[in-house]
Amino acid sequence: MLIDAHNHPDYHGYTVEKIIRDMDEQGIDKTWLLTWDVPQSEYNVRSNQNTMPPGSESGIPLDRILAAGAAAPDRFVLGYAPHPKRPDSIERINSAVSLYDIRLAGEYKSRTMFDDPDSLRLLRRFGEVGLPVTIHLEYGTDSGRSNYPWRDWWYGGTIGALDRMLAACPETIIVAHGPGWWSHISNDDLFDKHMYPNAPVKSGGANPALLEKYPNLYADLSATSGYTALTRDPEFGRQYLIDHSDKLLFARDIYDNKLMDHLKTLDLPSDASDKIMYGNAEKLVGAANV
Ligand SMILES: [Zn+2]
Repeated sequence: MLIDAHNHPDYHGYTVEKIIRDMDEQGIDKTWLLTWDVPQSEYNVRSNQNTMPPGSESGIPLDRILAAGAAAPDRFVLGYAPHPKRPDSIERINSAVSLYDIRLAGEYKSRTMFDDPDSLRLLRRFGEVGLPVTIHLEYGTDSGRSNYPWRDWWYGGTIGALDRMLAACPETIIVAHGPGWWSHISNDDLFDKHMYPNAPVKSGGANPALLEKYPNLYADLSATSGYTALTRDPEFGRQYLIDHSDKLLFARDIYDNKLMDHLKTLDLPSDASDKIMYGNAEKLVGAANV
């Protein structure tokens, strides 16, 4: 059994048909499909237009998730998260859960501090209705990309905001993701300077410390950020996977096999590997209720 715990439909050229073909080729049984609610003020022309459905204010909308679920209900687990600054964000999640088979919240990616009052209210609501939430943390690093119209593209704030949010939302399962989260695997000062720091890991990073501190915190291994964190210091990365195997989820956030190819080289103990490949993901997805 293999579960990809983070991906999106109509993303980087992958329609539902293409996703299912890719899953079959990679031996992936199920994929968690997540929205990304992008208001006009957070619309990054370059990345949104190049990788997502067309539209002035689109991101990955809920109707694309529902269409994928209708096309292959046994292959997809459906997720949705409204932007926390929508005045009706609570009502949106309530009606999504009562109308549709929504099992997850996410992707929760906005230019709002995680511990902003509107953010905390929505994150607590996810917990009340039984939805684990995948969050994206990113600092405004110099990525070398066009920054128009913002000077940089931060999301969620800081690791301190994540820490305060975890303390304030003990009943909500948080699945952490994103370059900001993963750069803190190391206890150095590179996290707000480079999107993907690749110097050897200094022990004592906030990422493993928070996983130890909060029973409601998990993390998905997706994207270049997860891959870089595990490979920048491969010996550290292997031990990290074993030490935190109760909290980590195999995930991609793009349609490639880089992470799996790396994991195969590590010869992980089978109980750790089973939890990462599907066990933790299966455990987190229950029945949502309003
Ligand atoms: Zn994503």
